[in-house]
Amino acid sequence: MNKKTKLAGKFGAKYGLSIRKKIIKIEESSHKKYICPYCKRKNIRRISAGIWQCKKCSTKIAGGAYALTTSSSEIIDKIFAKK
Ligand SMILES: [Zn+2]
Repeated sequence: MNKKTKLAGKFGAKYGLSIRKKIIKIEESSHKKYICPYCKRKNIRRISAGIWQCKKCSTKIAGGAYALTTSSSEIIDKIFAKK
């Protein structure tokens, strides 16, 4: 009947602590800003699952559903693949 067991009960014992930590990490990375490969400004934000947009130059990038890849070569490959 204490708060700790209530919180654990929300996710269920079967998921365990490590999974909950991963969920928190994914949530954090999905709200983070990323550096735009075009204007080099930290202005890329997730607009929907897998789609990221730079607020400065409006470049749209297909990235991961929850985190944009940090490898700039991968980002550039994806931009050119779309054109
Ligand atoms: Zn930009």
